[in-house]
Amino acid sequence: MTIVSTTVRELLQELTLEEKVRLVHGALDPEGTATGYIPGIDRLGVPEFRLADGPMGVRAGDKPATAFPASIALSATFEPELARKQGATMGREAKARNQDAVLGPGINLIRVPHCGRNFEYYSEDPVVTAAFARKVVDGLQSEDVVATPKHYVANNQETERASIDINVSERVLRELYLPGFKAAVDAGAGSVMTAYNSVNGAFMSDHHQLVTDVLKDEWDFDGYVVSDWFGTTSTVGAANAGLDLEMPGVPIEALWEMFGMEGSDADDDQVFGATAEIPDGMPDPSNTEQFAEPLVDAVRSEEVSEERVDDMVARILRQMERIGLFDDRQKGGQIGGDNHRTLSVTIAARATVLLKNRDLLPLNDDANVAVLGPGIQEAKTGGGGSSELEPLHQVTTADGIRERTTGNATVERGVPEIEQISFFGGNANDADDSKPEPSLATAVDAAASAEVAIVVVQDAATEAKDRESLRLPGRQDELVEEIAAANDTIVVVQSSGPVEMPWKDDVDAILEAWYPGQADGEALASVLFGDVDASGRLPVTFAHEDDYPTAGSDATFPGKDGQVRHDEDLFVGYRHFDATDVDPIYPFGHGLSYAEFAYRSVEVVNERRVQVTVENTSDRDGHEVVQAYVRASQSNEDRPIRELAGFDSIQVPAGESVTVDIDLDDLAFLRYDETKGWVDIGDSFEIDIGRSVQDIRLETAL
Ligand code: BGC
Repeated sequence: MTIVSTTVRELLQELTLEEKVRLVHGALDPEGTATGYIPGIDRLGVPEFRLADGPMGVRAGDKPATAFPASIALSATFEPELARKQGATMGREAKARNQDAVLGPGINLIRVPHCGRNFEYYSEDPVVTAAFARKVVDGLQSEDVVATPKHYVANNQETERASIDINVSERVLRELYLPGFKAAVDAGAGSVMTAYNSVNGAFMSDHHQLVTDVLKDEWDFDGYVVSDWFGTTSTVGAANAGLDLEMPGVPIEALWEMFGMEGSDADDDQVFGATAEIPDGMPDPSNTEQFAEPLVDAVRSEEVSEERVDDMVARILRQMERIGLFDDRQKGGQIGGDNHRTLSVTIAARATVLLKNRDLLPLNDDANVAVLGPGIQEAKTGGGGSSELEPLHQVTTADGIRERTTGNATVERGVPEIEQISFFGGNANDADDSKPEPSLATAVDAAASAEVAIVVVQDAATEAKDRESLRLPGRQDELVEEIAAANDTIVVVQSSGPVEMPWKDDVDAILEAWYPGQADGEALASVLFGDVDASGRLPVTFAHEDDYPTAGSDATFPGKDGQVRHDEDLFVGYRHFDATDVDPIYPFGHGLSYAEFAYRSVEVVNERRVQVTVENTSDRDGHEVVQAYVRASQSNEDRPIRELAGFDSIQVPAGESVTVDIDLDDLAFLRYDETKGWVDIGDSFEIDIGRSVQDIRLETAL
């Protein structure tokens, strides 16, 4: 058993077996705010414990909170310090809502471009994922709230997520899918959530090798491992594999009723209140109370040792102790406020990626614009699923632009709203009879009479379902084509991840704004009008759907006969496009700026650090994201050509030079050998310094 304090040790001696078991499975929150709840034990002063969903804001029942941009937007800033600030802000909001743990960050690697939850994750690259995971955990826990990185591991698709078996080699797990979790654990995460799926034949709730051998023993993780909701697939197997807490531990109908969800009638075939098509990735709701009575019986029959149960309890109590729940202090915390709102605007603006610009942006202050698109009368606060949130404040796309320009802004939807799935009914674009029927012809007229047209398009993504296509839903491509034929056109894409852009060559500028959260229009206007630089870069490759390594065979995605094979091996995302002659639409790391940069020099400081000097040769202040890729000198066929080892987002004033140290992550220099463990890839390396994986500006040898 792991080391415990005197308080925890004394409690373990006092608790009966039944009481211990009450602490390792969830119950219904009498306050009605927590997604997961552990009741306290009054006679011994054990406090109650509440877990609230994240990862883009704190959902405590139906109470509003700051709705941050999607996680993929956060990583598009390439500035992990913003992640620390967002984590701390969510920590303060969690405390103010009487929550003790946040169910986030979501840190699954983006393997499949269609994955319905890519907006909750960071990147196709493990170094970027790890950098953001670390900082969000750090920020959240600095406010005495437990972080819960999820979903451990290989939950890279939503199709059949609760039953699919992922066949993946240990090497690929170690090099790509585990580093984000390792970084979160090294940052001190108090909890880790297991994934629904199984990996190489064992469900993650029952995966002894990955949960006990790797996470707990090898990485020294001393927090608790919590199941995903209804994702505990056995009693004895899960307890002995190392799972410490079963959630939610109550029947699904009880949860539905508590949250006032639609579809709370057990006979209703709506699942979790989904208001559109029924997702196929829902867990089996009869997986509940595995760690209740059956665990007491398993201890009595000696299938699970009482020592194992003590360890589960100790891990949970220790986190309660760490965040001060045994002390008499007030939780404090803060909901909203200027600093929280401003941070949501800063992150959304800094995340915006300028993919293309034919000298149209930034706009003049008095630009006469037409603002067009199906969702412009709302803020795009997120996708569907457990991360949905009631925002504290919101600026719609149209309002943000209308308020910023001193010229005219005509607003027309052009095409019908895009149907969005909601778990709670609140986030879906409900058909609103008060809005006039959109007309494409009217939108085209508005575009033609303005100086410039801004078309805002969006995808629809949700937990429990993968996107069917990377094409924009509805008639949005047609809308863009028609507008582009009528006038100068800026396209703003609000998407969960990559989308195809068949009109790419016909428009003048393209901005990827992701799901910008409550700040939507305010952040977008600040980038369109050049109040801030366009400083985001792509943390994922944008390509045609048939060109991704997971295309072409059902066995790689979405699976065949319940099995997924990682045939692409290490060649995920840019690692694949680098090794083939297929051009993506936009490569990993790509993003323009309103300024211009010249890369002046790169010096090797030591084996794990280089120093890069960048000059801003324009007359505007700008932000540059300097990227360092490692390439082994001896080519090695079973390895990617180059791998990101480090990056930094730097502010470079007009006409000035900035020198920055870039730390190079070990991961890019090592490979995992299934018998020897981590070994060096080679003796000598080239370091490529660039603006994207395909735009290398400087090279040096290490
Ligand atoms: C999701 C988790 C979430 C949990 C609780 C599950 O469906 O996969 O990410 O934290 O529900 O809402």
